[in-house]
Amino acid sequence: MHFTQTFIPTLREVPADAVIVSHRLMFRAGMIRKLANGLFAYLPLGLRSFRKVEKIIREEMDAIGALEIKPTVVIPGELWKESGRWDSMGEAMLRVKNRLDADFVVSPTAEEAVTALIRDELSSYRQLPLTLYQINTKYRDEIRPRYGIMRGREFVMKDAYSYHTDDAGLDETYRAMGRAYRRIFKRCGLSVIPVKADSGAMGGSSSEEFMVESEIGDNTLILCKSCAYAANVEKAACKSDCDAPDSIETAKIRAAATPAIETIDTPDVKTIDELCAFLKTDAKSFIKTLIYRALNVELDLSKTPGGTKLEKRKPALDAPEVYPEAFFAVAIRGDLNVNEVKLAAILKASEVSLASDADVVRITGAPVGFAGPVGLSGIPLVADTAVSALNDAVAGALAKDLHYAHIAYGRDFVPWLSADLRTVIAGDRCALCGGELYEKKGNELGHIFKLGRKYTQAMGAHYLDESGKSHIPTMGTYGIGLDRTLASVIEEHHDDDGIIWPMTVAPYQVIVIPVKYEGAVKTVADQLVSSLEHAGIEVLLDDRNERPGVKFKDADLIGIPYRVVVGDKNLSLDIPGVEVKRRGEKESRLFDINKAAETLTGMVYAEIAQLNRNGA
Ligand code: ATP
Ligand code: MG
Repeated sequence: MHFTQTFIPTLREVPADAVIVSHRLMFRAGMIRKLANGLFAYLPLGLRSFRKVEKIIREEMDAIGALEIKPTVVIPGELWKESGRWDSMGEAMLRVKNRLDADFVVSPTAEEAVTALIRDELSSYRQLPLTLYQINTKYRDEIRPRYGIMRGREFVMKDAYSYHTDDAGLDETYRAMGRAYRRIFKRCGLSVIPVKADSGAMGGSSSEEFMVESEIGDNTLILCKSCAYAANVEKAACKSDCDAPDSIETAKIRAAATPAIETIDTPDVKTIDELCAFLKTDAKSFIKTLIYRALNVELDLSKTPGGTKLEKRKPALDAPEVYPEAFFAVAIRGDLNVNEVKLAAILKASEVSLASDADVVRITGAPVGFAGPVGLSGIPLVADTAVSALNDAVAGALAKDLHYAHIAYGRDFVPWLSADLRTVIAGDRCALCGGELYEKKGNELGHIFKLGRKYTQAMGAHYLDESGKSHIPTMGTYGIGLDRTLASVIEEHHDDDGIIWPMTVAPYQVIVIPVKYEGAVKTVADQLVSSLEHAGIEVLLDDRNERPGVKFKDADLIGIPYRVVVGDKNLSLDIPGVEVKRRGEKESRLFDINKAAETLTGMVYAEIAQLNRNGA
């Protein structure tokens, strides 16, 4: 390809909103342009690399027997009402009406669409397992699109959905997907960290996210210094740092020596820090009690305090009933923080958030800051497991400026539910090996997820077994963002001058720069390009009438792996040569013009083979 015949509008300046390297470089290299907030167009150079990522993903999906389909991007709203997600997806889902006033959704994901597709076709167990995938446009009305294509509103996802008769079959496909994902990222030249992830309210049993380390990452990863434990903080668990009793009875025995509860005046003391200073003790002997509002709770609350008064709703035909809104008191040791993702998973809620001040006052009968587990009525109390080890604690007394001291778990209060709710932080101990845990920031590139029967049940998918009995298939879902993957490649492979593409995703593999595109230099450059292209190498020929310095700067910026400079001086040597330089290396080498094409071809293929082998 001649530079003058393609469209690579390189720039020296970047827009102010391009704050991360990949956004700046893709913009400057003329790979992408912004149409509106979160909406980006790929220009020819960008699209070439994008297509390579797409090809690698497609090859790996095909290799594990996943079958490509092309559903629509616009999906009937009806399907989302069937699954219950019409209500729970929130504002990220773009809804539109057609001229007949019917509801449609611009696909943010496609569990509904693909499940609707297979339910009409599925009859026998012989058709399972079945894994379908698409590489297609998604739209999410992100509140804060940022970092260029890293978090856009429109993006492309490879999303796969698998259907099985049993858990063993799902497990097999889930693991094959995990291996395929590892290969995909390695072939793209990316170092990913697979981490255990939350499978939360979606009803699934396991889930893994593929993260790249990133300063601007939205995710916190918890990793162990001594073993391979790696988890998203949303999911991370740690070794207990207290001696929790095995039952309420044991707790009561332990409480025998604790003095009776005492009410203490704490005028104008609200925060844990203020209270610690006031009472001269540390946060570990406080019980923090927070009021949470949960939406679409699936857990049975009928036997909880206040539970009988709650209304239920059935979101979809075969789906379980949910409580659209319920409030919970959550107790946790003063030095720890509630992990809201864990809380939502335990309550089987679609969302949890701190209750408004007005709700806190209504529920606790006290101003904000004085909630406590003792004497609380009309609301279920959920406690972190570490709370059960406290047998002489301080907490709010449900009245302004009052706290209770000498509270004993089991004697003075018993939670409705005890569970691991803490947010793990650096310095906590690994649950597997006791090693020290540390934190990293990460960006999620892919996610694999055992969903179970939530969608197949809600949407009425069935198959008949050998004896003609009807069953609901179990399901897995697996996604990779292509745009984010591409941007992450640049985040990992660049220097001050520009991108340094791994060979597998480079838009071109070789750039040939004639110092001046005329005479003998032109002839040699044309011949070289022609030989390389003949050997299957993708070549960009910089035929622009620009100074060599300008061409070199652009070549560095767009990051094509091999640069070949053709100039008069080297052509007039005894053995005429061209100068070859690997992007990212300082030294260039002189290649005999008669051998240059062949040698370069070998080098390009060797690099591709190396990256593909890494992924094997
Ligand atoms: P995030 O937490 O970053 O919003 P997610 O958990 O919502 O991501 P999934 O629903 O698991 O994402 O989607 C699968 C993949 O799609 C993600 O791993 C990511 O690579 C990609 N993706 C999701 N949202 C965006 C976006 N706004 N822009 C670009 N890629 C995205
Ligand atoms: Mg995810």
